[in-house]
Amino acid sequence: MDYIKIVRESFPELSDARIHYEGSKIVIYTRNKNFFLVQDEKIKEIVEKIKKRIEIRIEPDSLLQTDLAIKKIKEIIPKEAEVSEIYFEPDFSRVIIEVRHPQIAIGERGEVVRRIKKETFWIPLVQRVATPKSPYVEAIRKTLFKSSSFRKRFLNNIGKKIYLTEPKETKYARVIALGGCREVGRSCFLLQTPNSNVLLDCGISTGVTGEDQYPIFLQDFDIDSLDAIVLSHAHLDHAGFIPYLYKIGYKGPLYCTEPTRELAALLQTDTIQLMQKETGKSLYTSSDIKKMIKYAIPLKYKEVTDITSDIRLIFENAGHLLGSAISHFNIANGKENLIYTGDIKYSVSNLLDPAFTQFLRCESLIIESTYGGPNDLTPRLEDAEKELISIIEETSKRGGKILIPSFAVGRGQELMVIFEKYNIELPIYIDGMIFDASSIHSTYPKYLAYNLQRKIIDENKNPFESDRFIHVANYKEREDILEDENPYIVIATSGMMNGGPILEYLKKFGPDKKNTLIFVGYQAHGTLGNKIQQGYKEIELPNGEKLQINLEVRTLNGLSGHSDRKQLLNFIGHLKEKPKRVLVVHGEESKALSLSGAIQKIFNIECYAPMNLEAFRFI
Ligand SMILES: [Zn+2]
Repeated sequence: MDYIKIVRESFPELSDARIHYEGSKIVIYTRNKNFFLVQDEKIKEIVEKIKKRIEIRIEPDSLLQTDLAIKKIKEIIPKEAEVSEIYFEPDFSRVIIEVRHPQIAIGERGEVVRRIKKETFWIPLVQRVATPKSPYVEAIRKTLFKSSSFRKRFLNNIGKKIYLTEPKETKYARVIALGGCREVGRSCFLLQTPNSNVLLDCGISTGVTGEDQYPIFLQDFDIDSLDAIVLSHAHLDHAGFIPYLYKIGYKGPLYCTEPTRELAALLQTDTIQLMQKETGKSLYTSSDIKKMIKYAIPLKYKEVTDITSDIRLIFENAGHLLGSAISHFNIANGKENLIYTGDIKYSVSNLLDPAFTQFLRCESLIIESTYGGPNDLTPRLEDAEKELISIIEETSKRGGKILIPSFAVGRGQELMVIFEKYNIELPIYIDGMIFDASSIHSTYPKYLAYNLQRKIIDENKNPFESDRFIHVANYKEREDILEDENPYIVIATSGMMNGGPILEYLKKFGPDKKNTLIFVGYQAHGTLGNKIQQGYKEIELPNGEKLQINLEVRTLNGLSGHSDRKQLLNFIGHLKEKPKRVLVVHGEESKALSLSGAIQKIFNIECYAPMNLEAFRFI
C-alpha cells in the first residue's frame, strides 16, 4: 500500500513538501516552520489510521547554520548537564548532543529540547556520553556518523521494498532450524513466508572446530533472497556469524536494539583477534563489522516495526544481557504470532529486570533450554552472592588470588555491581574488553534494571565508574599485577577460558592451591573452562603448554544470565496467552528433550525439541 499518497492527500498545505519512507517510518520534509513546531491532532489521526510512525523535519537548507546552532544549544542547555560533544546529521535534520547528565539536558517534560527545536529547527537527540571512555565505542559512533548519508538512502530503499510491492497471500509460514538445536551455539533460524525470508540470529559455536562452528546454509540458500536479520542479543553464539554474511554480499537490514548493535560489534572485534591468534586467520575483518553497523536498524523495546510486507516485529526485554530482546513476530496481520525468546532470564538480577511475558498474542513459541535439565535448579541470587563473598574472604585470608573468568558482557558487569554493593575492600582488576562493555552499559542506563537505572540517573552513582575497579590497560600493567604478592580479585576474559588474558593469570596462579578460580557462567563442552570445571588436574593451554591445576575450583550457578528449569517453566506459565505449540532449542540434547517433555506434561501443549535442518510449518 502507498502510505505516502495517503499522507499527501491528507495535508494539502504540504503540497511542496518531500515525503518519503525511512525504514518503516514516513518522513515529511517541509519549510513550513509552523507546521513543524505545532504538530496537530490531524497528524495523530493519520498515524492512528495508517498505523505508521510519521516524523516531521525541516528541509536541511532551512535549518539554522551549524555554527550558530552550536552557540544557541550551548546557551540553552544548563551548564550542569556537561555537554561534551555536539554534531550534526543534516540528512536527518538531526543534532546529536552528547552530555554527562541527559536528564538535565532534556529538561523537565522535555522543555529544554523543545526550546532547542524551536530556536534551531534541528531535531535534538540527547545521548549519554560513554563512560568510562572506550576507543571501541568511539569508533562505532564514528562509523555511524560517517555513514549518515548512506543510511538515509538505505532506509529509504528498505521502506520502498516493504510498502511498494503488492504482497502475495500468506498461505504458509515456516521456520527452518539452521543451527542451535540440541546444542548450545550457532543459533540460527530461517523464518519464511511467500513474501519473506528472515533470519533469526546467526551465531557461531565455541569449543568446536571445522564446519560445525557455523550455521548450516545448504547449497540452495541464496543470500540475495534474504530480506532481514533479526538479532536477539550480542553473544557470539547468536551474532558471531553475521559480519560474514555482509562479507559474502548481504545488503539488507539487521534489526536489533542499540546496545545489542554496539555490544555485538565489540564481541565480534574481540573474536577476530582470538581467531587470528589461534589459527592465523579470521572469518571476517573489522571492515565487515563496520558494514554490519551501517546496515543495522536499531529498535526500542515495544516499538512496532514492519520488517517485510507480511511480518511485523516487536522487541521486548529478555532479561539476559544489556539490550537482549524477545522477538514477537506478527505474521500476515496477526494470522500467526510467533515468539522467539533468544536467551532469557526470568528472575531478578542486579543488572536487568526479568523477561517480559505479557504478549497479547502467542500461538507459537521458540524457547531456549540452556539450563532446562531436571537437575538445573539454581540457588537464589542472594545465596549465590553470599557464597561468592565467603569464597573471596576464605581465599584472601590464606593469602590467595581470586580469578573469575567472565564474558566481556553481562557477568562482568553483574559482578561489578555486586562488588560495589558489598563494598569489597580487595583490589579488583578488570582485564579484557569488560571495561569497554561497561562503557556501553553506562551509555544506555534505560536498558538496565529499574533500581540500577535510578541509581545512575537520579543519584549519579554509576558502579561502572567506581574507583574500586582498576582497568588493566596493557601488557605491561598486567605484568606488574602478576608479580603482586598480595591477595586480589581479577575478572578477565574469555568467559570459557578458550583464550584471552584470563589464561595469563591461570598460568601464574593455577599451580598454587591457595588461589581460587570461580566459574560464574556457562562452560560449553570442549572448552578449557569446561575441562577445569570437570576436575582435570593437568590441562593443555591453546599454545600446547601443559599446566598443573591445583587451585581451588568453584562454580556459582546463581549468577547465570540464563533461566533455570523452574524459571523457564514459570515463564511459560506466566505468558498471557498459552501457546498452541512450543519448540525447545538452545540446549544440550538431553536438556532440550527433558524440558520439552516437561512442558508437554505440565501445560498440555504440543512441544518438540527439533534437530538442526528440521522445518516447522505454522500457517
Ligand atoms: Zn546469550
